[in-house]
Amino acid sequence: MRPTSGVFAPHRKNTAAMAAETMPPPDSVRVPMSMHIGAPAVPLVKAGDTVKVGQLIGQAGGPISAHVFASVSGAVKQIQDIDPVSGERGAIIVIASDGNMTKAEDIAPPDVHDLESFLAAVRNSGVVGLGGAGFPTAAKLSVKDLKQIEYIIINGAECEPYITSDTRTFIDDRDLVVSGVKQLLKYLEVPKVIIAIEKNKPEAIKIMRRAFEGESAVEIAALKSIYPQGGEKMLIHNLTGRDVPEGKLPLDTGVIVLNVTTLAALARYIETGMPLTVKRVTVDGSAVKNPKNVIVPIGTPVSDVLKYCGADTENIGKILLGGPMMGAAIPDGSLPVKKTTNAILAFTHEDAAAPAETPCIRCGRCVTHCPMGLVTVEIQNAYLAGKPAEIEKLHAGLCIECGCCTYSCPAKRQLTQYMKLAKAELRTYLAAQKELAEREAKRKAAAEGKSGNSNAE
Ligand code: SF4
Ligand code: SF4
Repeated sequence: MRPTSGVFAPHRKNTAAMAAETMPPPDSVRVPMSMHIGAPAVPLVKAGDTVKVGQLIGQAGGPISAHVFASVSGAVKQIQDIDPVSGERGAIIVIASDGNMTKAEDIAPPDVHDLESFLAAVRNSGVVGLGGAGFPTAAKLSVKDLKQIEYIIINGAECEPYITSDTRTFIDDRDLVVSGVKQLLKYLEVPKVIIAIEKNKPEAIKIMRRAFEGESAVEIAALKSIYPQGGEKMLIHNLTGRDVPEGKLPLDTGVIVLNVTTLAALARYIETGMPLTVKRVTVDGSAVKNPKNVIVPIGTPVSDVLKYCGADTENIGKILLGGPMMGAAIPDGSLPVKKTTNAILAFTHEDAAAPAETPCIRCGRCVTHCPMGLVTVEIQNAYLAGKPAEIEKLHAGLCIECGCCTYSCPAKRQLTQYMKLAKAELRTYLAAQKELAEREAKRKAAAEGKSGNSNAE
């Protein structure tokens, strides 16, 4: 890893000073059962049922999964098996809003008094990695031996250009962040919590320093503003000096990283009993007239959010969910806001036009700027030549898909796309290798069993 690598992308934090506005309820929401890594949630309602805000409508489908809750009150119109726009598989519950946002009657703060009840609250909150990763938080915090956790890093680096939703969490939800950190210290008995914030968010740093003054177990780390400072592996290296080996988890190095909005959502559930039904989303980009942070019911169509922010819908050339470096372009504004959506960026046709690729001039910038020290061009060539063993040797699995190679390339080559393809190829290759090894082991065991039997005879 080369933690000092990366790029100095323009920050464009236009909405950092704007407290989030709560959007009026949309006419309808489409709530996916899969907004997290792991098994999809299992729908608990059917068409025609009435639901209220905070009602459990999807039961976690396994230990690596998360509950899903109604984000508006109204009637279930339909359960779709497949997203008609993205083609993604997995049930989506469509709810027609009655406009009242009536809360479910059983919403009440949970009784949290020890580790077990704390972890139960994490599970029941429906919270997953809200920075975009979507890993179920209950699974992340269910550690066999608490002594394994030496540090918890609260990730508020928010290094992607434009996005300020985590920054607003520090400011708008200060008390929830403070209470969340206290619960981590108390129930997980973690010796040190580090709150990581880039230096370009001075107000957030000031608020946190004041809130934790005199608290020796909590450190507020002001980090250099360089992209991708907020990458999990970057943070761990820069704050603890430890590297997460390829194929290992942060916990293998004694660290858990939690996004700050994830922590605040969890603390809100413990304080109020209201599970995760809304998301703070930064809305910005050249096609958006009034950039702002908006609190949106999960499942709201992206186009509704854009309209609320005065987007020029006739002149949108590209919509991104997430930032310009790692965000995903979506085909249509009818897709829903998910738990993991932290930004919606819309750009005009003019700004969305992709620059033409030209031949590689072998300048080496993609290598210099890669925070993981990967030789991007060689991985691309190995992929194009269909050599997965070579892709493995070049450690493509370490790629965090940060986009620095593409951003720094003067020939405008879409290197990150090739890295994603190479990683997919590598996964298929490794799965096939594993299967082959297992088959060979079985064959050997069977052969040995046979010869053992014949020896016995
Ligand atoms: S996308 Fe992957 S290869 Fe490209 S700079 Fe980031 S980590 Fe390196
Ligand atoms: S940055 Fe672009 S032009 Fe330079 S070596 Fe990498 S791929 Fe080639």
